[in-house]
Amino acid sequence: MTRIKYFLVMLIMAACQPASPAATPFAATIPPSQGAVSAAQVATAVPTANPLPSRTPTLPPTATFTPSRTPTITPSPTATLTATDTLTPTNTLSPTPVPTSTPIASATPTNPADDPNNTPVPTWTPPPPDPSVQIADHYMLRRPIADGGANWVARTYAYGSNSGGLQVHHGVDMVNPTGTPILAAADGTVIYAGSDSGVMYGPQNSYYGNLVVIQHNFSSPDGQPVFTLYGHMDRVEVQTGQQVSQGDRIGVVGGTGVAFGPHLHFEVRAGDPGSFSATRNPELWIYPYRGYGTLAGRVTDAAGTVLYSAPLQVKSSELTRYPTTYADSSVNPDPVFGENFVLGDLPANYYEVSLTENGRVRFRKLIYVYPNRTTWVDIVLN
Ligand SMILES: [Zn+2]
Repeated sequence: MTRIKYFLVMLIMAACQPASPAATPFAATIPPSQGAVSAAQVATAVPTANPLPSRTPTLPPTATFTPSRTPTITPSPTATLTATDTLTPTNTLSPTPVPTSTPIASATPTNPADDPNNTPVPTWTPPPPDPSVQIADHYMLRRPIADGGANWVARTYAYGSNSGGLQVHHGVDMVNPTGTPILAAADGTVIYAGSDSGVMYGPQNSYYGNLVVIQHNFSSPDGQPVFTLYGHMDRVEVQTGQQVSQGDRIGVVGGTGVAFGPHLHFEVRAGDPGSFSATRNPELWIYPYRGYGTLAGRVTDAAGTVLYSAPLQVKSSELTRYPTTYADSSVNPDPVFGENFVLGDLPANYYEVSLTENGRVRFRKLIYVYPNRTTWVDIVLN
């Protein structure tokens, strides 16, 4: 499937989500390819297969020259970041092997010719780890799709995004055919397994269809009990009260509840497992693939006001992604990090992070995204 078709699939999948109340949109230009899609195009999309372009994770090649300038990764400590000092290390999991499946490609063009602001991004030797751009991770979860399926987070409808006016997303989606096995992301106890037709887990009944909720044997950095939620299952294969271990099969992918195409909707909740407003960004909890890292940050104006739905471009020599900041305050930032966007599944590399509004570049910075950890960037618009 081409990237465009994949994007169409995501549009379809998201299309049946109820619209959210109007958020304050960030007034900026969206890349033209994220614009309207014709009905005929939508009708031809088939949301089942996941043939994705082959991509081998690549680390930057060893430089044979000395860069004429040093990428600037300016320390940007904040009050929120210093709070990480009190965290105890939780990275006891070994890195996940690189899968045979491939990353979901960006739905937007990566051809440099399509990018009016194109500038070459160097791929120099990685700099030594810079503590100022690293935050204390809590990668306690493994991927919830069995080997052979797609464990990549669908980028077109990331946590906190509204994909252009849909329900703000309280989890992440992994697009897989009906019947793909779903695995427990960590050890724990099943606290709910079945339909949500008579119990409220989302903004309405029968929202997640058949779902499983697991309480895990660890707490969040702020001391809350942690739960994972697996929605839209075709079939649930565990029972309430059952103990499960990480990697145990708990059901299979489906499209039950409010979902058009089959996919796994995956959530992390902290505190009250029944509260739709207790979610956290799963990409800050799922251990990255070997050689991959996570970029997280916060976009504010000069006065420190958090900006909603601000469009970012994150570009390396290999790929370009277009994340947006959280669409409104209905989704929680991590209480330790205080982020308003997260972009996971990035091969370790240099990335140019930029924000352009009405053709004017309001932020641009070169960041090295380190493997197997989260790299932080503060984005304050000029
Ligand atoms: Zn979802």
